[in-house]
Amino acid sequence: MNKKVVVALGGNAILQRGQKGTAEEQMENVMSTARQIVKMIKGGYEVVISHGNGPQVGAILIQNELGSQQVPSMPMDICGAESQGLIGYMLCQSLGNLMEEEGVEGRCPVCIVTQVEVDPKDKAFRNPTKPVGPFYTEDIAKKRMKINGESWIDDAGRGWRRVVPSPDPKSIVEAGPIKCLVNEGYTVIASGGGGIPVVRDEDNRLRGVEAVIDKDLASEKLAQEIGADIFMILTDVPKVALHYEQPGETWLGHVTTEELKEFSRQGHFKSGSMGPKVTATIRFVEAGGEEAIISSLHEARDALEGKSGTHITR
Ligand code: ADP
Ligand code: MG
Repeated sequence: MNKKVVVALGGNAILQRGQKGTAEEQMENVMSTARQIVKMIKGGYEVVISHGNGPQVGAILIQNELGSQQVPSMPMDICGAESQGLIGYMLCQSLGNLMEEEGVEGRCPVCIVTQVEVDPKDKAFRNPTKPVGPFYTEDIAKKRMKINGESWIDDAGRGWRRVVPSPDPKSIVEAGPIKCLVNEGYTVIASGGGGIPVVRDEDNRLRGVEAVIDKDLASEKLAQEIGADIFMILTDVPKVALHYEQPGETWLGHVTTEELKEFSRQGHFKSGSMGPKVTATIRFVEAGGEEAIISSLHEARDALEGKSGTHITR
């Protein structure tokens, strides 16, 4: 039996810092990401892929706003679904082409538009923290706060930005079909951008909400729900560090969840970046997962073999 790995791709898998985000740039990055994934598949792993969507959904929000005089603009949940489609398409095509080239058979890539259920009573809804979309002037921000009831923050002199709640993922709505496809050998891409956040109404119907679920936490939920052996987060640093970018910086090779919790209490992991990754890996291992790994994208295969990355176990 091949080991099942859920791989959460970071922003750098699709767009490099400083790039504009043209279709060509994104396709090129996705192609090199696909190379890493195919290496893992050839190494005998069953890979399930999730990914971030920050820059892409940000661009969709701008397009919606600028086009709103001519076509109706879409709410955030629909923009999230669009971003899953665009990234899923790029990944599917690149993976498919590479598999064909390298003679990998029976692992056809497929992308599932994924909804992730959140609790309407989640405390995050009372305290929106996640910045989305572009920067605006104070005037526009104040107007939208008043007219639309949105939350906005003054982002350290760079301008004003809308913030939305970032609730905890409760369950993956499409977990059943995803599991079936994985068990049939398909290479599934799911839960993109943390999934489309939905809540269940009193009449048991799902409804999209204006929020963003952290992609690392949602990927972990996916990993648990499909019974993955390994949960892997691929980002732009080779390992997790203590005293990151400070004197005494130490890169972690192997840690237990207890050690990691203690380092977290000591404040080594930033809340908007490494923090959720660390939380996600602790959750996975504590829920019975064999191992979680945080590594850089280009060392993915080596990290799976234990030769690089930070490895988290009980
Ligand atoms: P992704 O798109 O992969 O989720 P993030 O920017 O959210 O990327 O998280 C990765 C970043 O976390 C790294 O580029 C690094 O700057 C930052 N980081 C914060 N704290 C740490 C730490 N303790 N060790 C390593 N990286 C850290
Ligand atoms: Mg991140």
